[in-house]
Amino acid sequence: MQVCVIGTGYVGLVTGVCLAQIGHQVICVDNDVEKVKLMQSGQSPIFEPGLSQMMTANMEAGRLEFTADLQVGVDRGEILFIAVGTPALPSGASDTRYVEAVARGIGQHLNGGYKVIVNKSTVPIGSGDWVRRIVLDGAAEGRSETPSFDVVSNPEFLREGSAIYDTFNPDRIVIGSSSERAIDLMQQLYAPIVTRQFAQYPDLPPVPVLVTDLTSAETIKYAANAFLATKISFINEVGNICDRVGADVTLVAKGIGLDTRIGNKFLQAGIGWGGSCFPKDVSALVHTATDYGYNAQLLKATIETNRQQRLIAIDKLQQVLKILKGKTVGLLGLTFKPDTDDLRDAPALDLIDRLTHLGAKVKAYDPLISSDCNRPDLAKITLTANAQELASGCDALVLVTEWQEFQELDYALLASLMERPTIVDGRNYLDARSLANAGFDYIGIGRPPLD
Ligand code: NAD
Repeated sequence: MQVCVIGTGYVGLVTGVCLAQIGHQVICVDNDVEKVKLMQSGQSPIFEPGLSQMMTANMEAGRLEFTADLQVGVDRGEILFIAVGTPALPSGASDTRYVEAVARGIGQHLNGGYKVIVNKSTVPIGSGDWVRRIVLDGAAEGRSETPSFDVVSNPEFLREGSAIYDTFNPDRIVIGSSSERAIDLMQQLYAPIVTRQFAQYPDLPPVPVLVTDLTSAETIKYAANAFLATKISFINEVGNICDRVGADVTLVAKGIGLDTRIGNKFLQAGIGWGGSCFPKDVSALVHTATDYGYNAQLLKATIETNRQQRLIAIDKLQQVLKILKGKTVGLLGLTFKPDTDDLRDAPALDLIDRLTHLGAKVKAYDPLISSDCNRPDLAKITLTANAQELASGCDALVLVTEWQEFQELDYALLASLMERPTIVDGRNYLDARSLANAGFDYIGIGRPPLD
């Protein structure tokens, strides 16, 4: 099928590359000309495991192209994915200006043939009909007298760091539309994924496809992220209670997670959730609820619990080091999760703000963030090239991101380089006993100190 993906960020680029991989003819559009040039030269602008190789293979096979010209994309594509960003506004509502610009542009370039316009971006509930109206407005300004199209909501559930795996092995595919023609085309598009032709476990039953109305599909995306965020805030709250009563939250999580009604996923206590989706999506759902006269108290508490949780490592550092002014704290990891270079709304950024506000010197080491990244929010810290350089002269370390390589570090060597070997394991990721044997004062989240 002929597919056009507009917006080549973490979602758009992965979607475009994976659809090309399953045999579709894909053109990806981005209005960032430098990014397009980079991709045309075969380089991925983002880090995602396996993405670069799959991208170049599909370009060489002639199934994947990049352009900055929306008209070319709209002309070519029968299915047009909108995959641009929907960041949060200061009010907590979703900023839909990029979606609006793309929808208008699509309308202006419609050429008479039937198109399926797919909202892949996470858009506020009710946006399907709004996108239809914007496309019609654009068409009135453009060259199409009688545009023929339908709008579909097809929310994305991939996780950064395992985006390709998730695209080929989804738990479900949600298609929201009132048009049978559009639903049929979407089912054809995804058939190779549904039948697990590209899956890691091809013998599993077909991927469930849930066909809904537009509004329900849009709500599913927000409800899924809000539930996951709430589950993490819940276990973090339990962890804070564990801290006070002397229980170990890792054992408590295991004990409750064995209950199949609860499940063991998303029950790791730590320094809170972040990233490009949870914070903005939970806020946007609260905002939508308010717009419709409902006070979403549970979701507000989910956000507030997380706000406090992000700074819990500071409390723990203060308990050990007392005054942080003049001390040096090293952060192991910066990205909001491992295997991504994404720093959007990462808990590390709040930690940096608070530590520097308290007068501490902050150093950091992250496998994918280098000192030439030129990010203004990292300007006040020292980025090091490895963990040894990080530990050297530090009063304490905080493990912020659970990068696999942090489990394999020579902690005895790191301890020997530090003023006072203390580590706050912000993800309960390291083996407490090994760290203690290596000479560290190990502090977990919601876990009692070692005997
Ligand atoms: P992103 O910021 O990484 O990428 C957005 C891209 O859109 C950028 O390359 C930008 O240059 C491009 N763009 C902006 N305006 C454009 C225009 N007018 N024409 C063409 N291109 C334009 O965003 P993302 O993380 O990929 O997220 C995209 C959407 O998917 C968001 O709504 C997000 O909530 C949702 N989502 C993201 C994830 C995730 O893990 N990142 C997961 C599920 C859903």
